[in-house]
Amino acid sequence: MKFEELKKYVDQGYSLQDLSNQFDKSKSGIRYWLLKYDLKTIGRKCVKHEVINGFKICNNCGENKSINCYQFRKDVNNYRAECRECFNKKSEGNSGELSFTCV
Ligand SMILES: [Zn+2]
Repeated sequence: MKFEELKKYVDQGYSLQDLSNQFDKSKSGIRYWLLKYDLKTIGRKCVKHEVINGFKICNNCGENKSINCYQFRKDVNNYRAECRECFNKKSEGNSGELSFTCV
């Protein structure tokens, strides 16, 4: 794993889980490299992922999906953190209860 590669994503606010998905490695594997390069992830808090080449990583399932899979919110002028699929699942799951958790 190259330092530049890893740092690029860490700088973008990727969490351990995101990095693990991105590089197709286990979380402990990623942690090893982070320690080696003395890099720190921001952690799993409402990270606003950037849209990269029309793709964005879903905050919920962690999949890198086309931006078409995300709902654009005009009120905040940004895309939803989770893809439509996850959002639909969530809203189905807790209908009635308005709990918005940042995972
Ligand atoms: Zn998703």
